[in-house]
Parts: sequence; C-alpha cells; structure tokens
Amino acid sequence: MENCLFCKIVNGEIPAAKVYEDDAVLAFKDINPQAPVHVLFIPKQHVASVAQPQDATQLGELFLHAADYARIEGHEAKGYRLVTNHGDDAGQTVHHLHVHLLAGRQLGWPPG
Ligand code: 5GP
Ligand code: ZN
Repeated sequence: MENCLFCKIVNGEIPAAKVYEDDAVLAFKDINPQAPVHVLFIPKQHVASVAQPQDATQLGELFLHAADYARIEGHEAKGYRLVTNHGDDAGQTVHHLHVHLLAGRQLGWPPG
C-alpha cells in the first residue's frame, strides 16, 4: 500500500534490522525500543490492524513466530509480552498490523 511505512520496509524502500522473514511474515527490531528486546512481527500483506485480518492463519502466524523467536532467543523462562494496538485509544501509530514482542526486563501491568 502506498505511503505505508511498514509496506515500505517489506518492499525494501526503508531499511530495518530484520530478525525473521518468510513468505508471509517479516520481523524487525523496533526503532524506538521500549525494552531490551522489542521486535515487531508483521504480515507482508498490508492489513490495517488486528480488526481487519485476512484470516485466522494470518493472525496466528504473527503470534506463533513471535513466540518461537522469544523461545529461541532464551526469553521463555523469564517471560515476555506480545501485544497489538488498534486505534487511537490504544496508541496505534502505524496502520499496518504488527505484534510487539517485549522482553528482557520486568514489564509493568496494566500498561499505561
Ligand atoms: P504502534 O504504536 O502502532 O503499536 O507501534 C508502532 C511501532 O513502530 C512503534 O513502537 C515505533 O517505535 C515503531 N516504528 C515507527 N517507525 C519505525 C521505523 O521506521 N522503523 C522501525 N523499525 N520501527 C518503527
Ligand atoms: Zn502496509
């Protein structure tokens, strides 16, 4: 989609520190990390948010790959958080579906 920041990362127009990629999913480090580990998992296909998924597989893949990455990187024992924001009240700033993986510190709950 034109003018979508994350679509530009998918098609290589904007660089990103990629940590995982397959046909459907791309994961890269957040540019403004909120924890020692802060990675974004996105579908390569443009989808505005969790409110408009293509199908259950598309949503499931993001969470499965994020959990796999957390396990491989050694964060399963201490814990991690997966979160996705929809809309203004949740603070969504990029309107291309993404799941945040946060790990590496004690995370507060409830979030602000
Ligand atoms: P949201 O607030 O929409 O849930 O999350 C958007 C995330 O994208 C934020 O955590 C923000 O730091 C991140 N972000 C915004 N622009 C860029 C960018 O150009 N590159 C990367 N890697 N992350 C970005
Ligand atoms: Zn997009």
